[in-house]
Amino acid sequence: MPISSSFERRLGSVVTRAAEHFGTPFHLYDVQGIKDTCDEFDQAFAGTPYREYFAVKALPNPAALKILADRGFGFDCSSLPELTLARQAGASGHDICFTSNNTSSAELEAAVGSGALVNVDDEAVLDKLAALPDVPRTLCFRVHPGKDRQGILDSRLGDAESAKFGIPADRLAHVCARAQRLGVESFGLHMMLGSGYLTLEPFLLTLDLLLDQAVRLRAELGIEVGFVNLGGGLGIPYRPDERPFALAELAGRIRGRLEEWEKRHGVTRPRVCFESGRFVTGPHGVLVTRVLNRMSKFREFVGVDASMSALMRPALYESAYHHITVHDSAGRPCEVVDVVGSLCENNDKFARQRALPAVSEGDLLLIHDTGAHAHSMGFTYNGRLRPQELLLHPDGSVERIRRAESQQDYFATLDCTPARLAAPGVT
Ligand SMILES: *Cc1c(COP(=O)(O)O)cnc(C)c1O
Repeated sequence: MPISSSFERRLGSVVTRAAEHFGTPFHLYDVQGIKDTCDEFDQAFAGTPYREYFAVKALPNPAALKILADRGFGFDCSSLPELTLARQAGASGHDICFTSNNTSSAELEAAVGSGALVNVDDEAVLDKLAALPDVPRTLCFRVHPGKDRQGILDSRLGDAESAKFGIPADRLAHVCARAQRLGVESFGLHMMLGSGYLTLEPFLLTLDLLLDQAVRLRAELGIEVGFVNLGGGLGIPYRPDERPFALAELAGRIRGRLEEWEKRHGVTRPRVCFESGRFVTGPHGVLVTRVLNRMSKFREFVGVDASMSALMRPALYESAYHHITVHDSAGRPCEVVDVVGSLCENNDKFARQRALPAVSEGDLLLIHDTGAHAHSMGFTYNGRLRPQELLLHPDGSVERIRRAESQQDYFATLDCTPARLAAPGVT
């Protein structure tokens, strides 16, 4: 969906000046919009014990994380730099969930040492935790959805059996029993079926599957599951004809199911957690880029000064769509174009065969919904450097929160301690 009309208004009044002042390209994030989505979460789940752990990988900028920390959000991390970011934003202890994913002993030790809640995604992780001086008293266990959930899985992830995340349900009790023997006393369960869902079903199914497992663990091991984490994956309407995710309805359905479950089993319902990224910040960012070249070949091409180093999704996922508008283009006729960057890759395109108002060199294009999984996915292939990030404050001021990458940054890792391992047999 195009960005909200209120963001569009706020943006429209500053974008030309911001482009002149800071130069293009840049991602710009709307503080008011992010706060509004925090409110939406809080209102939807009012009265239900819940917690949202923002998935740091979606928007790993301290200024953005600080907004969320101030609103009481926790953070979901899965690497040491992400842990550091979350701690710098003010989160501590179980405000941080560390979702392991083929994690090394050193990373686990650092996560445990920082007091983060570890989300165990395989029995091998438990082996590594067992070797630490102190095994955490509370652990979360990620459950593999299993192949009978095929139909509902995100097709981009491949078939369910190919998913690398989580402990197969039929191994869960065994793994939890081992954790009990290691001294673990409090348990949570986690499952994430995929990403970008606009319907409620995947989340209700996740809840049902986790509640089933909670009943099993209680019967077999006497474990009272304290919380269920339904993962991230709440979608946003990237396309103009898509409808927003019905968060309030989801919250209502979850509440209903938990009440019924509580009555049926005579136990206290677990707390519900999410670790959304896209839903929280995705719609509140735009990539602002200037037209460098108009090119006529078999198709019409609009070349802009951003590349896939700033936004990978359209190149990475064939179905990924980002709405594009042209600033100050009212009344212009439309034409069908491909919007392309400068990388020597033919899939370095922000849009293919898109009808846009006719543009010329120097025009500003706004690529919508880049508040999540955009700058953070960037890379520097072909020497194309990552752009700056700006924050639009509710008072209309614009703050730079990350500078553009420079050639110096690009060459920084070449500045390493000289080292050479002698060939075998040479002393
Ligand atoms: C990527 C990821 C998320 C966030 O996904 P969104 O689709 O942005 O909500 C949450 N949890 C885990 C474990 C992830 O890997």
